[in-house]
Amino acid sequence: MEMVLDVYKRPIDPIYPVVCMDESPKQLIAETKVPIPASPGEVAKHDYEYRRCGVCNVFLACEPLAGKRTVKITERKTKLDWACFIEEIAGQYESAEKITLVDAYKEGVSSAREIARLCEYHPAYQWLTGLEVVNYHTLADFRLCHKEDLDRLFSEVLGVLSYEGLVTLKRVMHDGTKVKASASDKSFRRRATLKDHLRLAHEQVEQMGDPRSEQLSQRVSKARQRALREKRERLEKALKELEKMEVSRSESSKKKQMRASTTDPEARVMLQPKGAYGPSYKVQISTDAQAKIIVGVGVSQSANDTGELEPALERIEANMGENPPQVVVDAGYTTQDTIEAMAQKQIDLIGALPERRKAPWDPLKRRGVSPEFYPQAFKYDPGTDHYACPVGKMLVFETQEQQGGWQRYRYRARASDCRACAFQAQCCPGTKKG
Ligand code: SF4
Repeated sequence: MEMVLDVYKRPIDPIYPVVCMDESPKQLIAETKVPIPASPGEVAKHDYEYRRCGVCNVFLACEPLAGKRTVKITERKTKLDWACFIEEIAGQYESAEKITLVDAYKEGVSSAREIARLCEYHPAYQWLTGLEVVNYHTLADFRLCHKEDLDRLFSEVLGVLSYEGLVTLKRVMHDGTKVKASASDKSFRRRATLKDHLRLAHEQVEQMGDPRSEQLSQRVSKARQRALREKRERLEKALKELEKMEVSRSESSKKKQMRASTTDPEARVMLQPKGAYGPSYKVQISTDAQAKIIVGVGVSQSANDTGELEPALERIEANMGENPPQVVVDAGYTTQDTIEAMAQKQIDLIGALPERRKAPWDPLKRRGVSPEFYPQAFKYDPGTDHYACPVGKMLVFETQEQQGGWQRYRYRARASDCRACAFQAQCCPGTKKG
């Protein structure tokens, strides 16, 4: 790494220029409501809702000492796109004898198999590994076996950033995103099938002989043994996950037979952005709004975000030693429980309220209530805590109840007033109570 940093210190030289390049995917979004431009005394206003319009790729190259920059936007980031961009850069330095290209790797490659594959041919990865071939299993095992160390390293890095004043934690933006699991739809099996597979795996493991006595090479034989052992462990885990799902399933889904994946037992089937269902996890990410640095990450098996904000704040507190004074979330988090929990912790919660799927007037319409007698026609008087109906009769507070994340307050007119009312058939048809 020091060698790379030394490259940046080289003096400006048109014959041997130093050019840095990188690429990054960018989500394309469009406004759903026309933004209101800034006017004297008013800032510009943009609605938080947006429409997704796909993704593009941004290539960027710069020569820092010369103050030169090249940007190219492509639909995709294939090897050909990359090669064309390098050719473009080379075309700008025709008098140069040799261009030193510093490629900052922020490609977001997280799959152990993909990293292992890149180590075989990609110069940057080969440089990092000293031309050694890295086995994907070793990489994946390293991550699994050193989870606590990696978590501690993450906290330490955040501690340094906080000490340097780079993370202020004044406002945290929190959201969740679905990440596809390494499992196919077909790997999901019901309890009976899982048990059959497990019995078969047990038999196969028992039938395995001593690897030294087999005709196959010891390496191949051991690999087969390990594959069978891991398969058995995954099947056992899948059965345990199935039990967990059965305990937590709702009343409405009691009759449905649950299924668990034989290749990634902890994955759950979730609705994807394009409308299809697929095995996924939900990753919850908290980011410092000013520094744009991630201060907490968690993975959950829940498809929705309800109840995920409190665990996220616990993670932030564990990493940073304190809670942020303000958190911004979308409508998936703003339930009654979360709002109350944030108020208790004295955290300023900014978030949209969930939209009701059905218009609140639908039940009234079905009952035959005329639109002139819908709730907006009733006027509230905060001084007396009474409503006045369209004909001026008073409705008094009767009861309060919770419905999902909403609090419902019920006000009622006197039955005698309604019975005598000429509009009863339009206002409250089929009831004698008023
Ligand atoms: S029915 Fe009762 S609540 Fe409705 S308008 Fe008449 S008096 Fe008011």
